[in-house]
Amino acid sequence: MAGHVFGRSAAQMPTAVAGAGCYIIDADGKRYLDGSGGAAVSCLGHDHPAVRAALHAQIDKIAFAHTGFFTSEPAEVLCDALIAAAPKGIEKVYLLSGGSESVEAALKLARQFFLETGEPRRHRVIARRQSYHGNTLGALAAGGNAWRREKYAPLLVETYHIDPCYAYRHQAVGESDAAYGRRAADALRTEIERLGPETVMAFIAEPVVGATAGAVPPAPGYFERIREICDEYGVLLILDEVMCGMGRTGTLFACEQDGISPDIVTIAKGLGAGYAPIGAMLASGRIYDAIAQGSGSFQHGHTYHGHPLAAAAAGAVVETLRAPGTMAQVRAKGATLQSRLEAALGQHSHVGDIRGRGLFRGIELVEDRDTKRPLDPARKVSARIKAAAMARGLICYPGSGTIDGKHGDHILLAPPFIIEDKQIDALVHMLAEAIDDAMAATQ
Ligand code: PLP
Repeated sequence: MAGHVFGRSAAQMPTAVAGAGCYIIDADGKRYLDGSGGAAVSCLGHDHPAVRAALHAQIDKIAFAHTGFFTSEPAEVLCDALIAAAPKGIEKVYLLSGGSESVEAALKLARQFFLETGEPRRHRVIARRQSYHGNTLGALAAGGNAWRREKYAPLLVETYHIDPCYAYRHQAVGESDAAYGRRAADALRTEIERLGPETVMAFIAEPVVGATAGAVPPAPGYFERIREICDEYGVLLILDEVMCGMGRTGTLFACEQDGISPDIVTIAKGLGAGYAPIGAMLASGRIYDAIAQGSGSFQHGHTYHGHPLAAAAAGAVVETLRAPGTMAQVRAKGATLQSRLEAALGQHSHVGDIRGRGLFRGIELVEDRDTKRPLDPARKVSARIKAAAMARGLICYPGSGTIDGKHGDHILLAPPFIIEDKQIDALVHMLAEAIDDAMAATQ
């Protein structure tokens, strides 16, 4: 191939030509076990019959009708299904084409809410270091990785960052999980007070942190306290479930396990499961009503939002995820994956932590288990593990800069929910070998 794709191309990577269950097959016929669903996208594998049938049926009816003129049956069905399963108080869905778009829409909706309710000074966003919210300018500003923001700093909206909830590194010796959860959440109160509550619009966080941290779950009680603090100061709580949502952690919405409802929640990745580019922003009735009874409309829009084909694919995905037993299976398979990882890697001299929820698991790599000293970034260990795993026929998602944007390596696992027991074994086996290959190559 000529290699005109912007970025990496056929010269550097294999060409994907087919998908079969949990496998991607390249042009040479090599099979790759998709241990991370790409980047936690392919939750139903690569040839799911219900999603394929929904796409075929929809393309035979109509592919596109602009939402400025029409609604469509698949968009209506999808939004009804999402609301039927959404956290309490969430009543409306705004369809988009991906995760970053959903975060942008969430930030703009929060701003418009405060304009409509007579608090125009509220425009500041608080987010957490060590989080990823997307690559468009608003979402990038909210993201925690300083190195991603650096080049574009003059273009970004005003955002402030607090420490994440990251027990492996921040919980004090002897501190209970609950006490740590409260302490971590109180960083939000301190920051709101510092900025002036009347200027703060929203706090945005991933319930289980994905790409930048490797499936870090919150401490018990953390999000309950965050919810209380947001309510106390009138700050909107935006949960970014683009990666951890849609059943990835074993409940359709990850925040169900933390017992709270956000004001706005964003989803993408698993919503389309890789069959269509789609995302969504879901908002509370309170926000919707304020705008409906105020100016009358949310000042936003994209040509492809509510695209019928994408909505048809996502409708079939959501129906599959909501079918009885699917979430229980994710939880059970997640527990199996965790225990197999612990058995294979729990004593490994460079594995510091194995964590996560459901089929969303992270392995943090360290130089020294006792001191938790991170690996030297120059060794590029997580990138080497990705390459070694690909060579063995395994896809896993590497991450670096886990701790402070510079130090810290982890591997993220997010296999399709259809993964079988023997495939979990194969995944863990190939990953353990890839870790050893990468460490040996940089000793
Ligand atoms: N939010 C989170 C939590 C993500 O993990 C991502 C992507 O990795 C995004 C937002 C951005 O999504 P997209 O790449 O679809 O724009």
